[in-house]
Amino acid sequence: MKFYLGTHQPAWLARRLGVRLFVSHRRLAGRKTMPRAQGPWALDSGGFTELTIHGRWRTTPDTYVTAVRRYRAEIGRLDWAAPQDWMTEPEILARTGLTVTDHHRRTVDSYLHLRELAPELPFIPVLQGQIIADHQRCADIYERHDVDLAAQRLVGLGSVCRRQASQEVDDIVRALAERGLRRHGFGVKTTGLRRFGDVLASADSMAWSARGRREPGCAPGHRSEANCLPYALAWRRTLIDSLSTSQRVNPTAGAGLYASASQTRHQNEDPSCSAVAVMRWPALTRCMP
Ligand SMILES: [Zn+2]
Repeated sequence: MKFYLGTHQPAWLARRLGVRLFVSHRRLAGRKTMPRAQGPWALDSGGFTELTIHGRWRTTPDTYVTAVRRYRAEIGRLDWAAPQDWMTEPEILARTGLTVTDHHRRTVDSYLHLRELAPELPFIPVLQGQIIADHQRCADIYERHDVDLAAQRLVGLGSVCRRQASQEVDDIVRALAERGLRRHGFGVKTTGLRRFGDVLASADSMAWSARGRREPGCAPGHRSEANCLPYALAWRRTLIDSLSTSQRVNPTAGAGLYASASQTRHQNEDPSCSAVAVMRWPALTRCMP
């Protein structure tokens, strides 16, 4: 399991942190200069925010591809990039006025279009849905378009953010494992990692930031810990230790030097997704300066 530590701060990419980072296109777009990555990282497309605000993608595929090419060239060390996918949480469906099936089609179309525009870029397919049948149908649509999901380096698993404590989500994740997919869990909370982290290839989270927002800052320049690097790294370390203790993550399966945690496209944008439910947190009410 590889963890990607989500951050609002692209400058962290230039630090030698020894962790994988997860950064949104929304945080990078428009920057004059890019940080040079000192470690591997992955790119979120920022879809949850874009669909929430606008009810549609205003960023065109061409614009997104141009941006991702720039990130890969100027920042470097890009592991993979999310497509311009369409989440299926009820509030997003209400905003777009479309159905789950519509969102499936558009999510698959985005992947196919981006792949066609830029076959050299590491876009990953993403599955969306609310129930197992949704995710299976989304996977079927990819396969009808000759996308062999089992042959992909990674398949993103979206729209499970709010329900990670439920048996249903556990069933979804495990059912997709049976299809032989190497899955990335977007915005997996600690509860989710404990339940199904053992069958994920990777996950991202920035639950630390939502928690840090409620903590007093550790230094004069920190009003809170929402963007504090030591706080984030301490959170990640506690998370990794917690998962290792729970024996749900194989420490030899890639956690190693770059084990990390995540933003979610959601958590970054949706504080209700960010609760760290089962952390051994009391020892970490303050980070070290
Ligand atoms: Zn701090």
